[in-house]
Amino acid sequence: MSRTPGGRYDAVVVGGGHNGLVCAAYLAAAGLSVCVVERRGIVGGAAVTEEFHPGFRNSTASYTVSLLSPRVIRDLDLATHGLRIVRRPLANFLPFPDGTHLKVGGGLAATQREVAKFSPRDAQALPPYYAMLDRVAGVLRALLDVTPPNVGAHRGGRFAFALDAWKTAKPFRALDATAQRDVLDVLTKSAGEILDRWFESAPLKAAFGFDAVVGNFQSPYAPGSAYVLLHHVFGEVNGEAGQWGHAIGGMGAITQAMAKACTARGVEIRTSAAVREVRVAGARAVGVTLESGEAIEATRVVANVNPRLLFEELVAPAHLDDEFRARIAGYRCGSGTLRMNVALAELPDFRALPGSHAQAHHGSGIIVAPSLAYMERAYFDAKTSGWSRAPIVEMLIPSVLDDSLAPPGKHAASLFCQHVHPRLDEVLPGHTWDDHRDEVADLMIATVDAFAPNFAGSVLGRRVLTPLDLEREFGLTGGDIFHGALALDQLFSARPVLGYADYRMPIENLYLCGSGAHPGGGVTGIPGKNAAREILRDVRRPRRWPRGG
Ligand SMILES: Cc1cc2nc3c(=O)[nH]c(=O)nc-3n(C[C@H](O)[C@H](O)[C@H](O)COP(=O)(O)OP(=O)(O)OC[C@H]3O[C@@H](n4cnc5c(N)ncnc54)[C@H](O)[C@@H]3O)c2cc1C
Repeated sequence: MSRTPGGRYDAVVVGGGHNGLVCAAYLAAAGLSVCVVERRGIVGGAAVTEEFHPGFRNSTASYTVSLLSPRVIRDLDLATHGLRIVRRPLANFLPFPDGTHLKVGGGLAATQREVAKFSPRDAQALPPYYAMLDRVAGVLRALLDVTPPNVGAHRGGRFAFALDAWKTAKPFRALDATAQRDVLDVLTKSAGEILDRWFESAPLKAAFGFDAVVGNFQSPYAPGSAYVLLHHVFGEVNGEAGQWGHAIGGMGAITQAMAKACTARGVEIRTSAAVREVRVAGARAVGVTLESGEAIEATRVVANVNPRLLFEELVAPAHLDDEFRARIAGYRCGSGTLRMNVALAELPDFRALPGSHAQAHHGSGIIVAPSLAYMERAYFDAKTSGWSRAPIVEMLIPSVLDDSLAPPGKHAASLFCQHVHPRLDEVLPGHTWDDHRDEVADLMIATVDAFAPNFAGSVLGRRVLTPLDLEREFGLTGGDIFHGALALDQLFSARPVLGYADYRMPIENLYLCGSGAHPGGGVTGIPGKNAAREILRDVRRPRRWPRGG
């Protein structure tokens, strides 16, 4: 639907990340005229595929699928728009310094056989552990699609709030006492504590504990890290829970399909169109001004960007009260991740599982991090000296599953490396990641090479993104892959700030639809979908915009 004769859109979406596109598609499907304005030359935000070396393409940032909502896939007809997701043959492969290895995935019996190499007791403990995680994930999964009760706001009155709170507590109340205690443990304890209670072998705890440090600049023994682990097992691939998959064509295939769904519904998408300011008149958002100076009028402004970027750079301070600005300044953003794409002449030949011909483990998430203690050291090392001297590396080689990414016989690999300090000058005053990018990228390659000695020699080219690059390129404040830490004080009714968890921001007609809103980061499409639902509620049932408490 095109804009009104006065030139005003019903909604302008700031940022063409996947959540911005999802939100726009739902709004347009309901008949609103919508314009998406994206700063980069392509849409997709952190879910894009780009050429990084002549002839080699790969997902640039986000690199694997699991959390994408099946409902969003259906509602936006993403399959019709070309999206195809395949399962990895094996979830994870961990090579160890002593030449042994662990493979996780390919069915429970296969994983139990692998785990039994290290501990028969742990192999027996796997089914009840998975059952516990499933129960807890089930409760939290039921909350993904809801609008969190807006604690601290007066919107809707106390009765409406009590009703919302009662509804959201329902899945929790349905559990028996053991399961309720498990939910509490996962929300508050460290991944390390939980894994130490369940298992005895370091390799298995490393395989599971890795998820707790992904994008989370913390030790696996930090309270709350168990939730980050769980956040990574929410998902499903083609109907199978807890699986990770690959989008043929890379993560950009997801957002290209979303962009097609938007266009089919009449959304206008503008790229290379950076927003300089959200325009506010009479205490209402009324549109945006682009860097070019062009003004775009809209009845509603929907922000897909990180909340700190929105309120510290795009909304003038005069429109916000001091308390809110202080809370936003305290919103924690910063992942300890370095992301690298490498073009490979051949597949890595692991000492633990020899051969550079394609084997199942080459199609899995290859984790270099032998124990939780190693991960804890990696964190403290980065925290005190800028980066881990013995880092945690996950490598995926999507070209094993997808021949559209690299020339025949060659491969494209994603390296996702932790920990590097999100703000290097805090530990190395006067230094930025521009001074250390290549040195640390070399270290990451050497770390893999120690397990697969043909690796360094097979690298034909690379593209490296430090936290600083992620911030510059994608607007990810502090390189935070989730638009803000996934910790209890920044989740659900507290995301991004208590009183503003219902996607409505403190300025009338300004909404948040990105990962800084519930349920947080990952390529899920859920914040975008939920925000659209709330916006459409306001369109159908206009109401006064009461302030949060
Ligand atoms: C390195 C890395 C690895 C990851 N790995 C995975 C993974 O494997 N699987 C997974 O599910 N998730 C992963 N994630 C997380 C996931 O990619 C993000 O949480 C998610 O893509 C965020 O989507 P979004 O739409 O909320 O925001 P974004 O993707 O951040 O989109 C925001 C958009 O706003 C644009 N923008 C910024 N400023 C302006 C402006 N002034 N004007 C106009 N536009 C602007 C940006 O360019 C961007 O396109 C990863 C993220 C990173 C960075």
